[in-house]
Amino acid sequence: MKSDSIISVIRFCPLCGSSKLNKSNNFILSCSDCSFIYYDNPKVTVCSLIFNKDGQLLLTKRAEEPMKGFLDLPGGFVDQNETLEQALIRELSEELQLSVQEEDLIYYSSSVGRYEYSGINYFTVLVCYFCKKIVSGQEIKFDKDEIADIVFVRPEELNIKLLGMEDTKNLMTKFLKNKDYERQNFKN
Ligand SMILES: [Zn+2]
Repeated sequence: MKSDSIISVIRFCPLCGSSKLNKSNNFILSCSDCSFIYYDNPKVTVCSLIFNKDGQLLLTKRAEEPMKGFLDLPGGFVDQNETLEQALIRELSEELQLSVQEEDLIYYSSSVGRYEYSGINYFTVLVCYFCKKIVSGQEIKFDKDEIADIVFVRPEELNIKLLGMEDTKNLMTKFLKNKDYERQNFKN
């Protein structure tokens, strides 16, 4: 099923109730009867590249739709009034009970994609950090509501088709193509 952008499904001005709405490229919504204007900027999400001592990358298996059963990088949506680092630290704590400090996180790269949820198709921008903290897997107690399992794979053996989210696929396609896992700052 093809889902729609939030702008395409809004039929009345949220401020004055008018139906005289102007829609530009599914990005800008404005009202002819009042000053209301809305820009459909992307949703911001964060994720992390976390490795074990053998250089294997930690991936989570999604327990929930969308993309239930597919692999993902740990992370999630940024909340209001959160920095990217705060959001990632919170997500790693909630999802994996993994305690990470801001100084453990090194910016890697970002990517874009779409995220279908409840019939709406959102634009996303995914911001990825390399995590300096090495994990063994033993210390991880994942949130079973969100995560069905965790797996470790060698980066060069990662099958992109097993990843669920479009922005994560785009990110990891670049990661593999550039062989960024060979970067010195990703070694420990
Ligand atoms: Zn209006």
